Amino acid sequence: MTHAWLFTGPPGSGRSLAARAFAAALLCDRQGCGECVSCRQVKAGAHADVLLVRPDGLSYGVRQTRDLVLKAAASPVYGRWRIVLFEDADRCTEQAANALLKAIEEPSPRTVWLLCAPYADDLPTTIRSRCRLVTLVSPRTSAVTEVLEREGIPAERARAAALAAQGHIGRARRLATDEEAARRRAEVLRVPGLVGSLGDALRAAAGLVKAAGAEAAAATEELDEPEREALRRAFGEGSTGKGVATALRGGAGALRDLEDRQKSRATRLKRDALDRALLDLAGFYRDVLAIQLGASVELANEVRSDELREQAATAGPGDTVRKVEAIMRCRQRLEANVAPLLAVEELTLALTG
Ligand SMILES: [Zn+2]
Repeated sequence: MTHAWLFTGPPGSGRSLAARAFAAALLCDRQGCGECVSCRQVKAGAHADVLLVRPDGLSYGVRQTRDLVLKAAASPVYGRWRIVLFEDADRCTEQAANALLKAIEEPSPRTVWLLCAPYADDLPTTIRSRCRLVTLVSPRTSAVTEVLEREGIPAERARAAALAAQGHIGRARRLATDEEAARRRAEVLRVPGLVGSLGDALRAAAGLVKAAGAEAAAATEELDEPEREALRRAFGEGSTGKGVATALRGGAGALRDLEDRQKSRATRLKRDALDRALLDLAGFYRDVLAIQLGASVELANEVRSDELREQAATAGPGDTVRKVEAIMRCRQRLEANVAPLLAVEELTLALTG
């Protein structure tokens, strides 16, 4: 049995779901029936022998990793394996990765590490070389469309969302079912048509950052409130009697911890939303380029073919490539912590030419 596995695949390819199914199979008496108590617990993230790690913030630190390594080394509660499912393992800091490496080099006999990351290269070679690699690919548009249709979404809408999401099924589902999300995406895709003058470019930049901010705020609120509510319930808010006062004092500390974690997650969601907006924009210009070159590929923005053709007619393929490069540069700048509005303004100015 290999003690360390690395699941890779682009965002939305379902790498953590695949890892979870694998964990269920390892613990199930029938190799992952999907129906027994053990399988259902793993699926719900409630199995005592599966440690789920999901970094909330931009990075995962060494202290957290050392705690995790200790917990991972304990014997399984119910038998076969103790499994650590580590999502976004690429967010480990260098020190954290070193702590992780030690655990993987000398694994406890009953511990299995399942690491998830977008690409194998995202992890240090030392860790990668000790893992067995499971590579997932993005599902095709037709497959995503089919899943959405099965969920009751009308065919045309399902296909447009699947194309727009470029293989990311969660994103496709959201675009097909959440009008606000679809509207914000449309807002982002207005940028190419807006940039004409200096003032237009700056206004477009502000609009883009705002749309991404709204997207992140919606996602943040959806996650935050249920967590606060669960914590309040756990600490017995609303009940009376002996011990409640003590519990509530403990609750205040836990609430502060939760708020810190939520804050760092909000930062990450904001960055992710802006990055996705930029990828949507890059997808638009990729479509423009495909039209300019007469390539017969699926267009992510098929429904906007008029705008695509208009853009394709106004400049040459060289210009379009430069625009895509400017978007990629902007993503790198954001990754390096440049102020979002500044980086995006640079971009929209570059798009103006
Ligand atoms: Zn089972």
